[in-house]
Amino acid sequence: MLTREKIFTALENVSDPEIPVMSVLDLGMITGVEINAANVVVKMIPTYAACPATNFIKNHIEQHLQKEFPDEKILVVVDNSIHWDTNRMSEAGKEKLKSFGIAPPRKHLGEVTNEMLLGAECPHCKSTNTVLRSPFGSTLCRAIQFCKDCNQTFEQFKPVVAE
Ligand SMILES: [Zn+2]
Repeated sequence: MLTREKIFTALENVSDPEIPVMSVLDLGMITGVEINAANVVVKMIPTYAACPATNFIKNHIEQHLQKEFPDEKILVVVDNSIHWDTNRMSEAGKEKLKSFGIAPPRKHLGEVTNEMLLGAECPHCKSTNTVLRSPFGSTLCRAIQFCKDCNQTFEQFKPVVAE
């Protein structure tokens, strides 16, 4: 029998197209799963506004679940009641991000300041002896940091507050 747990387990294997080590659950993109008589409805919210298109990730989740549960009618919908926020990222997800060489966003208290980008922890050697090279990295949502201890450049996700 199909259960919500089975859907959640399957979602753990749906990776973010941009950061393959992170699942859509790690990112906090899934806001609900409903199993109805006619279909399975998965509610999601897109991450960073400037990052991969909502429709792309929506189809990506839908295709993955549809393949895993071919007998079900899977419907992925965008949940407009909640806005994504970097605080939704799971601790496990942040660890995966570090192992991928990207520093996770700092937890915020409802406000994001440039100071939050200072003193980032290097994902390579864990030093906080780091300097902000540029607030914009390969994408608008990442900053470029430099570690003075291991002399390596790394990217950091910037905190985002839900609007
Ligand atoms: Zn370092």
